Amino acid sequence: MPKTVRHHPRIVEAQTCLSQCTCGGEHPAPEVTLYSGEDACRVMAEDCRAFYGGKSVLLLDDPNTRAVVGAELLSRLTGLGVDVRHYPLPDELHADDVTIEKIRAACSGIDLVISVGSGTINDLGKYSAHHEQIDFWTMPTAPSMNGYTSGIAAIKVKGVKRTLPALPPQRLYAIPSVIQQAPLKLRQAGFCDVLAKVVSDVDWKIDSLLFSSNYCGLPSAMMVAVENRYAEVPEAIGRGDQDATLGLFYGLLISGVAMSLAGSSAPASGGEHLVSHFWDMREPLTGRVPELHGLQVGLGIILSAACYQQLTRFKVEDLSPRSAQVYRTTAENIPDIWGPFAGEVAQQFENKKSSLEQFDRLLSQHWTELQKLFSQVRPPHYFAELFTRVGAPFSLEAFNLSRNEFVLAALNARAIRERVTVLDLAAHTGVLEAAVEDCLALIR
Ligand SMILES: [Zn+2]
Ligand SMILES: [Zn+2]
Repeated sequence: MPKTVRHHPRIVEAQTCLSQCTCGGEHPAPEVTLYSGEDACRVMAEDCRAFYGGKSVLLLDDPNTRAVVGAELLSRLTGLGVDVRHYPLPDELHADDVTIEKIRAACSGIDLVISVGSGTINDLGKYSAHHEQIDFWTMPTAPSMNGYTSGIAAIKVKGVKRTLPALPPQRLYAIPSVIQQAPLKLRQAGFCDVLAKVVSDVDWKIDSLLFSSNYCGLPSAMMVAVENRYAEVPEAIGRGDQDATLGLFYGLLISGVAMSLAGSSAPASGGEHLVSHFWDMREPLTGRVPELHGLQVGLGIILSAACYQQLTRFKVEDLSPRSAQVYRTTAENIPDIWGPFAGEVAQQFENKKSSLEQFDRLLSQHWTELQKLFSQVRPPHYFAELFTRVGAPFSLEAFNLSRNEFVLAALNARAIRERVTVLDLAAHTGVLEAAVEDCLALIR
């Protein structure tokens, strides 16, 4: 065993958190560390032996991530005498309560869970380890989503996609060439997911203005500090250029940390994420296998941007007290759309009923400030073009989504989660349908 245990740099230092906070609250920097290097497998295995020699480790991977790096990591761990149990996950994988139960059962007697992979594998490991109160490390294989460092996991519970608390990993080990060579669609998905912040941050400001008063500029400031590394270089990310791809990966790690620091997914997940969750949840009903999280979120970003654009044109004198009617119409659709899951969805929607009822009073009261926020978002065609520039097709057809399923999500996704987003404002003001048409003109 090595005499000393190695420590790696934290992804975000405490000083950054203190200096950029605008809310005056507490933001203790998460102690997530990153080791990045071509020898990350060896280093991770050695660190694992140093920390968990004589203890037991559970390694999660799937056929793809095993071929890329999981098999090597497993053999290194075994070679160093670490008691590692392999938990091979199937190709077609879901982050749901059924899968979680199985992994948690396998965690018996385990001291550390290691996820090797991206979104789903990471969420499964993180959530299982959190609930078994055991340590969690991860080896990301693609710059495809921002959940590596976040304090939440997206898990389908009784058919409803929930973002549930789950401690981030203590340690991340990344192999730059693996991140760089991840498939194009995964890079495109990560590019969309990291850009969700440009609409979700405004959703959060609106929620804060109307209801929660909990907005903090820290998450956004952290993202702005790194976004020149990826936001303007979609073609380079598409080509797999090293600086651009690693810049994107780093942006995703920061985005996850930003959510941890905010104590909520609000900085990086607003209305644009709801449509993605909607399609994930509809899989058992429609049979459509969901597209990558980030790509579906990309469609949601264009929709949110279209809502903001419509809202900038809306006249305050056209506001009328219609929250009860709008709520009722959406609530009435829930049984048809959700079948066996209708009860769970109805409960989520019910949870924000009292907030939505206050729209009748609050929107006109704050309209001037709201208008300023609406105009902070770039128009939808800007995002549609940006996502296409990564190089893979970006359309409903490419994502195997029918026009009907897109429209259904756009009009009804706001019911699946209690957080207030731009989709609620657009529905209340009656501009949502027009925004959907604007959006369809760009992605069909
Ligand atoms: Zn703050
Ligand atoms: Zn996301």
